[in-house]
Amino acid sequence: MQFHSPRIEHYNWHEVKAMAEANMVVLIPASTVEQHGPHLPCDVDNVINQHICDQAAIRRPDLCTVAPLIPFGFNEHNMGFPGCLHIQEHTLIELYADVAISFTRMGFRKIIFVNSHGSNPPFLQIAARKVVNTTPAHAAVINWWALIPDVLQKHRETEVGGAAHACEVETSLYLHICPERVHMEKAVADVAPRWSDQVWVDLETCGPVTLIDDWSRVNSTGVEGDPMKSTAAKGKIWADATIDRLTRFMDDYRKYPIKPRRNFNHIPKDSGGPKA
Ligand SMILES: [Zn+2]
Repeated sequence: MQFHSPRIEHYNWHEVKAMAEANMVVLIPASTVEQHGPHLPCDVDNVINQHICDQAAIRRPDLCTVAPLIPFGFNEHNMGFPGCLHIQEHTLIELYADVAISFTRMGFRKIIFVNSHGSNPPFLQIAARKVVNTTPAHAAVINWWALIPDVLQKHRETEVGGAAHACEVETSLYLHICPERVHMEKAVADVAPRWSDQVWVDLETCGPVTLIDDWSRVNSTGVEGDPMKSTAAKGKIWADATIDRLTRFMDDYRKYPIKPRRNFNHIPKDSGGPKA
């Protein structure tokens, strides 16, 4: 069967069944709506994530399909800025898990949460564990930028610690995907001073200490980095490299065996039989 659209909701149930029978990987884009400085719309994380997932499925319709994007994320620390939507942590975990488990009930066995928002991973990882612990399927969590640290490093002009949010990287990707919604004439650079050599935030690599703070305490522009260094050409390089590595991983992931669970505990004879 030829799958012509990257989005699973564009198919009927017979076709979805055929996708599960073909052991296709399900990409679940997990994002957020939040402010991204004066030059970008609030949908940056959603637009980037949808592009990466859709393009992966367009390039490899035999390999993967894309679930409806989950547009809301964890944002309590950003609520001092207009445009941010926040979902509480327990709701978010259950939402992620429920969506993924729904796919496992159709017969899909390889799930990937593709994340584009820096504050979602703890909740995605708990949801992925819940999927693995309660279903026969595998689940993985990927932050898109973590696939390409070397490619970011090769082409970026800002120093590490200067590309975190509405920055050179995110702005370049938006310029590549939808330039008409980017207002570069409003862009401002805002690079946080390094107050400890153990703390920095960056899409290429973060410092060893994860400092939790409310963003309104430390930032007043909504930008963390230098978007003035952004170009659509760099955005294309970074997007294409991400899509390439995501599809390479999915080729491995689809083949990765799901082994039977084992129970190495001592099971007393009077226990009524083994329980995993
Ligand atoms: Zn963002």
